[in-house]
Amino acid sequence: MTRRRPVYEGKAKVLFEGPEPGTLVQYFKDDATAFNGEKKSTVTGKGVLNNRISEHLMVKLSEIGIHNHFIRRLNMREQLIKEVEIIPVEIIVRNVAAGSICTRLGIAEGTALPRTIIEYCFKSDDLNDPVVSEEHITAFGWATPVELDEIMSLSLRVNDFLLGLFTAIGIRLIDFKLEFGRVFEGDEMQIILADEISPDNCRLWDTATNKKLDKDRFRRDLGGVEDAYQEVARRLGIMPEGGPGDLQGTTAIQ
Ligand code: UDP
Repeated sequence: MTRRRPVYEGKAKVLFEGPEPGTLVQYFKDDATAFNGEKKSTVTGKGVLNNRISEHLMVKLSEIGIHNHFIRRLNMREQLIKEVEIIPVEIIVRNVAAGSICTRLGIAEGTALPRTIIEYCFKSDDLNDPVVSEEHITAFGWATPVELDEIMSLSLRVNDFLLGLFTAIGIRLIDFKLEFGRVFEGDEMQIILADEISPDNCRLWDTATNKKLDKDRFRRDLGGVEDAYQEVARRLGIMPEGGPGDLQGTTAIQ
């Protein structure tokens, strides 16, 4: 058995060399971290669920013309993706106040924002992903003004689509984080959506009860993390056929 070469290991995922140039294999771990890695644990089955949930959402986004890195799912924990040059900026899209905006600006959690707000954070674990402005992004050359316009408009389209999709299954999309990358096709450079979309990087509240169905259950020690992720998968209609028993999936890396 040949062992694939890892090219990057993050907190919740590993990227391996793909079978063809320009592709990577994205492996979803069960590791959960919060507060920039200070809090660490394992949530059994999380990787399997996030692989499926992200696949589902990326495929739906492709269907409405939002290009993204997803090519196909390979197995319970892995998906084939396009290799991109990641733009080192996290795009945070907020519909309702929660998390860091509440502490930073003194807003009560759950307050509806006057309109959707986009924030940018510089991707740097050493600096704790600081909030930055468009000025920083363009002045330091992390993205050009044209790229940033494209990123902003794509992020708003993703938000519109996901708001509708989650509303239909009784979930409020409070906020989420996106990452984008560049792909070169011949001489043409395109910005596409990358990373993942899952309860690890979205805040999802039950519409009727406001119960949190996302990573805040882990961050805030609320318990029932795995059940919450399963609930999101179930409402999306993508629970593995064998039910939760199938969620272990394969951990073998070929
Ligand atoms: N988020 C993320 N990765 C990060 C920071 C934030 O996926 O490194 C997501 C987070 O899950 C939430 C949204 O982005 O859905 C807004 O997060 P916030 O800025 O409130 O930070 P947090 O409270 O999670 O520290």
